[in-house]
Formats: sequence, structure tokens, C-alpha cells
Amino acid sequence: MNMYTVAVKRHFVAQHYLLGDDWGEENRKHSHHYLVELQVKGSKLDKHGYLLDIMDIQSYLDEQVHYYKDKTLNDLPEFMGLNPSIECFAFILCKKFSQKINAPAANIIAVKIWESDNVWASYTSVKYDDHDAKFEL
Ligand SMILES: [Zn+2]
Repeated sequence: MNMYTVAVKRHFVAQHYLLGDDWGEENRKHSHHYLVELQVKGSKLDKHGYLLDIMDIQSYLDEQVHYYKDKTLNDLPEFMGLNPSIECFAFILCKKFSQKINAPAANIIAVKIWESDNVWASYTSVKYDDHDAKFEL
């Protein structure tokens, strides 16, 4: 399917330590300079030629960055029982944005998180039915 993509990104620093096996240095609490990108995709534009209001998704992303900035991910309730990998982090953020973004023309929301210059993971949520306001996770 042919689609438009609108994306916004932000940098922030947060801490974590990995669980469940011997991951060397990653088992000790440390900081990452995360870069998170929120992407919204859809095949139709509104009458103004927009997929959505970009100010809205910037403010949603700012809210989340403000919440996670300088925190230890392991201490937060949404990471309880989870290894705070960038895969899990992308899933959690994608779930939050999926519940918040109100853009009828948007079919796909994706969150991509870099934990270093060369390493990223993403999670993608797809809304299959144009009439269904909810995204599948
Ligand atoms: Zn780490």
C-alpha cells in the first residue's frame, strides 16, 4: 500500500540494567543516550494536505520524554517483570501512543528507539480497519 509517513524524534538520557542472563556490563545500572522516533503512516491526507496535526504528536512525544528522562526504567511500573530492552521500550511507547493519537487517516504507528549510534529496535502497531479507532498491538 502507498503511504505517507510523518515522524518526530527526541533525545533523552535514562538508565537501565538488563535482567535474565549474564549480559556483562549491561547487568549493571548504566545510562543510555536514547533517541526515540515516533512515526505515523497513512494513505490519505485531510483537506489541508496533512496526515495529522504534527504539533499533537510532538506534544505526545514531549510528554513521554519528560516522563522517562533521567529515570531508571527498571523502577517504573510498566517495566515490572520485563527486561528493559529497547524492544520492550518500543512496545511500551507504541502502546501509549496508539491510545493517544487521534488521527482518522493514520493506519500505522511505529516507535523506533536507538540506544547508541548504531543500534535500534522498533515496534509497529497497525490499524487494519479504517472504521476501527483502535490500533492492534
Ligand atoms: Zn544498556
